[in-house]
Amino acid sequence: MKIAVIGAGPAGATVARILHDKGYTVTLYEAQKSFAVKPCGWAFPVLDRDEKREPIFDLVKEAVLWEYTGYKMYLDNQLVYHSSNRLLGYILDKPKFIEALAGDTPTRMGVKATYRGNGIVVTGSGDSERFDRVIIAGGFPMQPRNLEKILALQYWVRTSRVEEPDFPELYFYSDMIGYAWIFPENEKTLRVGIGGYASRDKLLALLHELMKSKKYIADGEKTKFEGAYVTVSGIDWDLASSTDPYYVGESMGAVMPATGEGIRLGMWTAIALARSIVNGTSYVDELKKIRVIRFMRPHRLMVEKLLKMSPETRKQFLMKTPEESLLRISLGRATVSDFLKIASRPEILKAIISDLL
Ligand SMILES: Cc1cc2nc3c(=O)[nH]c(=O)nc-3n(C[C@H](O)[C@H](O)[C@H](O)COP(=O)(O)OP(=O)(O)OC[C@H]3O[C@@H](n4cnc5c(N)ncnc54)[C@H](O)[C@@H]3O)c2cc1C
Repeated sequence: MKIAVIGAGPAGATVARILHDKGYTVTLYEAQKSFAVKPCGWAFPVLDRDEKREPIFDLVKEAVLWEYTGYKMYLDNQLVYHSSNRLLGYILDKPKFIEALAGDTPTRMGVKATYRGNGIVVTGSGDSERFDRVIIAGGFPMQPRNLEKILALQYWVRTSRVEEPDFPELYFYSDMIGYAWIFPENEKTLRVGIGGYASRDKLLALLHELMKSKKYIADGEKTKFEGAYVTVSGIDWDLASSTDPYYVGESMGAVMPATGEGIRLGMWTAIALARSIVNGTSYVDELKKIRVIRFMRPHRLMVEKLLKMSPETRKQFLMKTPEESLLRISLGRATVSDFLKIASRPEILKAIISDLL
């Protein structure tokens, strides 16, 4: 069976690789001349038990640039949580990671591809080829409908000494849904960015204020500035039901709505699609079997609730949520019962009720 995969991000490279290894004739198209050009923080949470069972996630360990053993969380610039002594996640060398994912799958780099229907894929130079299956993996620009997105902006900074390189820092604001991040990638370089439900000007103002407040960042050299959208709708189940073409990754909304985490989610959709093609099962059923995909719905509901809260209630929510729950939310692993536990805490319940009165 001949399969075209359009887009070599984490989702496309994963599905192409698994199917290639299973003996399918796969062509992976990537519009850029190199992997991982799209803006990204390159952060990846520590592997959980499901990921440890999937061989493709072994490649994560080979691409680790930096490990995080704690994190710091701020609300309106006040430190509210500081956890340590626990492996929480990694910064990956994303170009190396995607190259490893693609492996020896035949890949056409620097070739923009368009799906014309009836299995026909046309490239920018006008070549066309017919495939039995076509998989769209081009990220948010290839969504066939307008899924809800927020803007994210990011600087790459080189500095003489990162203050606490083992700890990523997350900055929340009571008047904005979203967060800013400082993701060190070693002792001298880091990415500092922000994403949220706000205008570009407001996001930039908050980001610049944060950068100014950290002397080592303010004095550092800004080597790159970039921006892109992050999908926050959750999976679009109509797109998940499509078989001509199939969709994986962010092109179908597979990004954790509360955190913007898309690398791992994209890989899981790719694994689900590969299982469906190899076993002749339904893609939607395969997606629903995956735990992290099931966690997306409560995370999305939490965002919807936060959007409706007053800044004061949001502040209470963030201040009173137990650290373990906040950690599970930031790792994309909070369940419905976690959210029920948070909502039933007296201080949060009181704040929610006062919003309703
Ligand atoms: C600023 C920012 C920071 C982020 N930080 C993180 C983070 O730290 N951790 C995390 O997990 N997620 C993060 N995300 C989200 C994450 O980057 C994406 O959700 C994830 O990369 C999506 O993977 P994907 O494979 O679906 O698509 P993409 O990574 O977008 O890959 C799609 C690929 O398809 C190619 N392509 C597009 N159209 C065509 C075409 N017509 N023909 C051929 N190729 C095409 C593109 O060039 C691209 O390489 C961040 C996003 C932003 C914007």
